[in-house]
This record gives sequence, structure tokens and C-alpha cells, in this order.
Amino acid sequence: MTAPVQSLTRALMFAAQKHTDQRRKGARAEPYVNHLIDVVDTLARHTGGADVELLMAGALHDTIEDTGTTYEELKRAFGENVADIVRECTDDKSLPKMERKRLQAENAPHKSARARMVKMADKTSNLKSILESPPPDWNDTRKLEYFNWSKSVVDGCRGVNAGLEREFDDLHKKGLATFKPKAA
Ligand code: ZN
Repeated sequence: MTAPVQSLTRALMFAAQKHTDQRRKGARAEPYVNHLIDVVDTLARHTGGADVELLMAGALHDTIEDTGTTYEELKRAFGENVADIVRECTDDKSLPKMERKRLQAENAPHKSARARMVKMADKTSNLKSILESPPPDWNDTRKLEYFNWSKSVVDGCRGVNAGLEREFDDLHKKGLATFKPKAA
């Protein structure tokens, strides 16, 4: 029998290895794994941590999209439930970026409750990063665009976890008060 915490650490180890060479876009170029642990921590704080498959999916949520990991590989290593959540959180990279962003917002309400929680935690982590260590080449207009697009995705995820919504909304509000777009 594998204890839940062991399943989680195995997922974290797998994700850390897959993302080894990746950095966040922020000025400090944080190790990518900081983002993954932030997502797991955010999910754990708002759910009490009882659903280990949810936390594992949080750790693995960017592996298919960003590291070339396959669905089959995840299914073999972590089971179908976890692999399914990660697949639900994966964009179709054959589509142009703008289209992918549009589809994220449009498809969010049709995702499973667990995928919607992972997506909210992911967006929460990204807003936090932009507030704390923004990409050096992003001006306030670009940051605001990102914040508002993220909100359109989170709006499609609402109804499954009030705490996650609240944390995201507080950060979103903070961004709106902080970033000053240039007058057109
Ligand atoms: Zn992510």
C-alpha cells in the first residue's frame, strides 16, 4: 500500500525532474518547481489536503503541455484519474496562442470540478508571480491583460471551491489597483 503522502512526493519528484531545465518568466527566473509547489500548496490550503489525486494533478499539471510527457506515461505512473485531470488542464499546442487562450476561457465551465480547482490554483500562482516578480519586459498594460484574461478563465471555473475563488479575486483586485495602463 502506498501512503497518500508518498504518492504526492513521487508526483513532485517526477515533475521536478521533467521541469529541471525550465525557469519562470519573472525577473528572478525562479525554478519552475516553485510554481508547481505553489499550486499544490494552494490546493491543499483550500481543500484540507484530503484528495491526494487532486494534489498530484496540481504537481503534474504542466508536464504534458511543457515537458513532452504523454498522457499514457502519466496514466502508467499515477493512474487514470490523475492523468485525466492533467489532460483536462492541457492546451492543444497545435493551435495558435490567441486561440488557445480563448479556448481556455470558453472550455473552463465544461471541465471536471478537480480540473477547475487546478486551473484556479494555477492562475492564482501566476498572478502572485506577476505581482512579486514580473517578467522584466511586461508593461502594466500587458500585466492587466493577463490578469483580466485569467479572470475570464477563473470565472468559468467558479462554483467548486469558494476559498480558491476568494484568493484569486483578492490578487486580481490587487493587480487592478497596482497596474496603471497608459491612457490610449
Ligand atoms: Zn502552471
